[in-house]
Amino acid sequence: MWMSKKPPRKRKSALNVVEGVQGGHEGLPGNRPPESGHEEARRPEVSVADLAEGVLSGDRGRLARAITLVESNAPEHFEQSQQILHRLLPHTGGSVRVGITGVPGAGKSTLIEALGEELIGRGHQVAVTAVDPSSSRSGGSILGDKTRMDRLAVNPHAFIRPSPSGGALGGVSRKTRETILLFEAAGYDVVLVETIGVGQSEITVRSMVDFFLLMLVAGAGDELQGIKRGVMELADAVLVNKADGDNRQAAELTRAEYEQALHYLRPATEGWTTRAVTASALTGDGVPELWQTVESFTRATSHTGLFQRRRRHQERDWMHALLNQQLRERFLGRREVGERMPQLERSVMAGETTATAAARELLDLFTD
Ligand code: GDP
Repeated sequence: MWMSKKPPRKRKSALNVVEGVQGGHEGLPGNRPPESGHEEARRPEVSVADLAEGVLSGDRGRLARAITLVESNAPEHFEQSQQILHRLLPHTGGSVRVGITGVPGAGKSTLIEALGEELIGRGHQVAVTAVDPSSSRSGGSILGDKTRMDRLAVNPHAFIRPSPSGGALGGVSRKTRETILLFEAAGYDVVLVETIGVGQSEITVRSMVDFFLLMLVAGAGDELQGIKRGVMELADAVLVNKADGDNRQAAELTRAEYEQALHYLRPATEGWTTRAVTASALTGDGVPELWQTVESFTRATSHTGLFQRRRRHQERDWMHALLNQQLRERFLGRREVGERMPQLERSVMAGETTATAAARELLDLFTD
């Protein structure tokens, strides 16, 4: 499985970098609160080589600064971040990437804490981030927020980075993908990516992870209605959370219903039967079993080569998505196109020109 491909490097000691820093929310460098802006970018310049080396040695401060470069919208930061990524690329890929989606209140952050601690107990290094396309509108990240994961936030074997505020989903998506690469270069061997399923964000996260988990809670009736159409088809496991106390039976019932419903769906991953399981993120019941499911998945898919194949395809598809997006931006950015566009739009709406002819004329203006 993935571990045999590239065993996670032993970091010298993640504790080294917290020397002299007291515990509490600000206890670990790098676990920045979402409201702190881009303070790392404002610090004195460090070279690309220095940052890349810092990331490789597992230095939290430099990892945070490298992520800040990746997240920055400034062109010079973009260049620097690409140089860093280029250097680090051979050291990436050594994690299991797990996406977690669920409505607010499903228990995602509680689960990430429980799972994170379980994994750290097994010797893993866990990095957490999020895709929250609404963060630019809400003015701050609501996901992957360290104040919601206060135990992991002070754990030296965990690194939490809130969702970047990237404007459109495409921007957030690039930043998150590149952040995952930085996590891996820094030695994190499990990466958890959280999302709440706003717009297309589940599809975006699915396209950057190996294993995708849909979190639900048992509710009164109509459970299947609460889920956006198509999301179940993305999942490698459906987790009915809050299976504790009086809710245990209802959770089991819901699990059985989903198990049934899943029979009729095409599995998200060829050769893997999507499972429905129960857990309590609060008590930790079912959390080790959840990880066993992820491990069975990576074993099975690595064995057939699908694990690696999906990753390769994800990279290729991502390249095409970038091309589509950037071609469009360049096209629309051309003065001639911008000038002619409104006239042609009017003409097409008035039925004077066909859409095909108008599109061809605009493309000709672009390519000439
Ligand atoms: P998120 O919005 O999906 O991240 O959900 P949270 O993790 O913030 O959890 C929402 C609420 O549900 C909090 O009050 C949690 O304490 C509670 N909660 C989360 N998981 C469980 C669970 O397994 N059992 C119970 N009883 N409550 C839970």
